[in-house]
Formats: sequence, C-alpha cells, structure tokens
Amino acid sequence: MPRAREAFIGLGSNLGQPKKHLMFALERLASLPGYTAGAVSSLYKTAAVGKTDQPAFYNAVCRGMYEGTPGELLRALQALEAARGRERSERWGPRTLDLDILLLGELVMDQPDLQVPHPRLHERGFVLIPLAELAPELLLPRWGKTAGQLWQELDPAEKAGQEVEKVSWA
Ligand code: AMP
Repeated sequence: MPRAREAFIGLGSNLGQPKKHLMFALERLASLPGYTAGAVSSLYKTAAVGKTDQPAFYNAVCRGMYEGTPGELLRALQALEAARGRERSERWGPRTLDLDILLLGELVMDQPDLQVPHPRLHERGFVLIPLAELAPELLLPRWGKTAGQLWQELDPAEKAGQEVEKVSWA
C-alpha cells in the first residue's frame, strides 16, 4: 500500500460553464478512492496565457491526502477531464476541465508522462497565488521556496499579463 501524501491539485476551465466544471471536479475528487479532501482555495479568474484569443480561465487549487501511486492519481484526474468532454487537440487551447498534479508531498519525479512538482508551477500566477493562499509557509520541493517567494521572484516579463482576479464561487 503506497503511503499517504499531501496532494495539491490545480483545477482550470475556460469553456462552457467553468464554475460548474470545477465544482464537478471537486465533488468527484471528494469521493475518489484513496483521496481525502481538504481545503479549497478561492476561485481566480485569469486571462489565458500562451494562446490569448480564447476565453479567460477560472482556476483554483485544492489540497487533500492521497494514498495511491502518482500514476493512479494522474489516470483518475484524466478520467475526470474526459468525463467533462475535454478535447486535447490543441496545446494551450480552450478546455472544459484541466486537472494537474501540482505537488505530492516531498516527491520529485521526472517521467515522460508525469513530472511532480508540476513543471510549469513556478511560472504561473494562477497556480502560485492560490497555492500561497492554501499553504503560505510550505517550502516546495525542487525549489526549496514558498509559492509566494516564487511569484515575487518571477521575471517581470513572465509575470506580465498574468494578473489574477479573485471571484466568487457562487
Ligand atoms: P496539459 O494538456 O497541459 O494538461 O498536459 C497533459 C499532459 O501532461 C498529460 O499527458 C500528462 O501525462 C502530462 N503531465 C506531466 N506532468 C503532469 C502533472 N504533474 N499533472 C498532470 N499532467 C501531467
């Protein structure tokens, strides 16, 4: 039996009714075998990064304990994405539901299909800001810094256009 690790999962959506997709994911995560749900961050609205001619994203981060392998968690998240009809045709393109493993305790792994911590975590305001809200003191493996420090230290050119706006879950 794999040991339980603290999991931080990133949620995003920018198609259809984003809040509904995110609520769906949180509900289904709460009943995922091996996962014990904890706190959920505020909801943040962000202009799309990378490919900018698409609707704004809604993002949040949730924390919980996960007892299972990293691969099992990835497959479970991909099944939830598929249940919301996510299409993977276009990189950086719009999606109904995007779920990422951000952190799994102290784990650092680099496999072709799964890198933990998430490889782009340190350069995304929509991840770092909700992560800092949930775990302000946590030193992130790989970087040895808090999410807030990583956000502050991010190159201003990278930060440009990444303003996040807190919005209501209602
Ligand atoms: P994306 O389209 O950005 O959601 O990327 C999906 C791909 O990223 C999947 O094929 C995963 O195998 C891969 N991937 C690598 N590391 C992670 C991670 N930490 N969380 C989720 N997906 C990951």
